Amino acid sequence: MTTLAELEAEALGCVACPLAGGRTKVVFSAGNPASDLMLVGEAPGRDEDLVGEPFVGRSGQLLDRLLAEELDLDRSGCYIANVVKCRPPGNRDPLPLEVATCRHFLESQIDLVAPKVVVSLGNFATRTLLGVTEGVTSLRGRSYTYGGRVLVPTFHPAYALRGGGVVVAEMRADLVRAKRFLA
Ligand code: URA
Repeated sequence: MTTLAELEAEALGCVACPLAGGRTKVVFSAGNPASDLMLVGEAPGRDEDLVGEPFVGRSGQLLDRLLAEELDLDRSGCYIANVVKCRPPGNRDPLPLEVATCRHFLESQIDLVAPKVVVSLGNFATRTLLGVTEGVTSLRGRSYTYGGRVLVPTFHPAYALRGGGVVVAEMRADLVRAKRFLA
């Protein structure tokens, strides 16, 4: 079986889709692969592309704060990855071909990390993982089964930054829901 290190090495050299041509760095993961909690975002933004780590910009700061306040966790207590590992130009949504080409990396990460709970952040990650078209606003508030694991959908932190207190409060409630499944 492939190891996470081998998978990461493969991703760092990947040129299987056009996003490879525009990237600065491949953004494979952050955090602790031994964790029971995995967070899945959409794709790297500008800051992540420069640094090579998921959620290092403003939305990452909110995510870090909510993880600390609701789960008493920092990045060493969870594992973070995105659906797509290279930055889409202008931060557009990843295209179906890009998701299809990249998806095996995320699937293998989930298999290898084997978290108890996956939290999908935002519409894109939630729809991709659940294979549905509804928005996260109607999907959140409950849990789902994903490959024998618990999946808890919540808002994308960038949306929470724009949406203000109510959205942040709902995101907190979703993280508390995830915490119950970790216990
Ligand atoms: N948004 C995401 O979905 N992922 C990141 O890593 C950064 C911003």
